Amino acid sequence: MDRFDVTIIGGGPVGLFGAALASLHGMKTKLIESLPLLGGQLYTLYPEKYVYDVAGFPKILAKDLAEQLIDQALRYHPTVCTNQTVENLEMLDDGAYRVHTSSEVHETRTIIITSGLGSFIPRKLPPPSAERYIDRGIYYFVPAMSHFQGQRVVVVGGGDSALDWALAIAEAASQVTLVHRRGDFRGQQETVRQLQEHPRVSIRTFSECIDFQGSTRLESVVLVDHRDKTTHVLVADAVVAALGFLPDLGALKNWGLDLEGSSITVDGPMRTNRPGIYAAGDVVAYEGKEKLIATGFGEIGNALGHIRGYLDPKKRGGLPHSSNIKIESP
Ligand SMILES: Cc1cc2nc3c(=O)[nH]c(=O)nc-3n(C[C@H](O)[C@H](O)[C@H](O)COP(=O)(O)OP(=O)(O)OC[C@H]3O[C@@H](n4cnc5c(N)ncnc54)[C@H](O)[C@@H]3O)c2cc1C
Repeated sequence: MDRFDVTIIGGGPVGLFGAALASLHGMKTKLIESLPLLGGQLYTLYPEKYVYDVAGFPKILAKDLAEQLIDQALRYHPTVCTNQTVENLEMLDDGAYRVHTSSEVHETRTIIITSGLGSFIPRKLPPPSAERYIDRGIYYFVPAMSHFQGQRVVVVGGGDSALDWALAIAEAASQVTLVHRRGDFRGQQETVRQLQEHPRVSIRTFSECIDFQGSTRLESVVLVDHRDKTTHVLVADAVVAALGFLPDLGALKNWGLDLEGSSITVDGPMRTNRPGIYAAGDVVAYEGKEKLIATGFGEIGNALGHIRGYLDPKKRGGLPHSSNIKIESP
């Protein structure tokens, strides 16, 4: 079996940047992703939203950032396996690992876990009738904005995701109703202000969806106002439920790693408690951790600097500057 220096689990932004860095620095690198598409949350959760806080990109659509990261990673020819979920781990006598996925077995000297939120399990809308309209009017994963052109859309939630989606969808939809069960929003107040002033957005606080109706597709939503217990029927072509995602480590939680909730605890060089296993990005926990793309990029750089010395003690001391590397092709 072909043995790799580094196997990265999860092809989100952090795993992709890790694949670029590791292969750029001459490590024999493999990236394993459970979905058919690389890009992680950028592609799966908010492809049409702009990101403003990634260094070097003043403003970039999430899906375009994903494309840039994929392009950067593939330039240095890591082995990429998509459509495979990492499940079991086996430690070999010489300290290397066998990684068992849903369809293959891989051998590697070190592992970096960049599995982020895990398998993207959305928090569900409570009414049982919601199940009937999934992808027939009710969406937990937001489709392209063009899908909502001229539609009447209800966005449910009170955090940044719900606020941002309501604002983005309002550019395409004929009408957006933002429904939140509390009186105040957890998200950015500036976005709340923009929504309040938007001519096609109405906001219903203290309200909750209690039923969904329609023949073959969603046609209306029943809302209750908790203040006076009155119900209202709202005609709607689509509901976007932005209630957040439940982080889930899946089978990785049985690997004997030290955990804090569903996050993996790491030290400065991003080591877990198991030798040769590192973690970076949204999946990790340490004091002061910020779940941002930028921090994930730094973390995986730290991990790879350490891994380089772990693989070859003569190379201790971190990653050399890339500007000193002679790149042949791209
Ligand atoms: C709506 C929204 C807006 C955001 N906006 C910003 C922003 O403006 N700026 C910012 O910095 N951050 C933003 N974030 C956060 C940012 O997207 C995350 O910090 C980032 O995606 C974390 O990257 P990651 O690679 O660690 O994990 P993820 O992006 O979660 O990728 C993890 C990947 O691992 C895969 N995976 C999981 N388990 C396995 C397994 N067992 N086997 C194989 N593959 C597996 C998943 O399928 C996924 O592709 C936003 C998040 C959301 C939800």
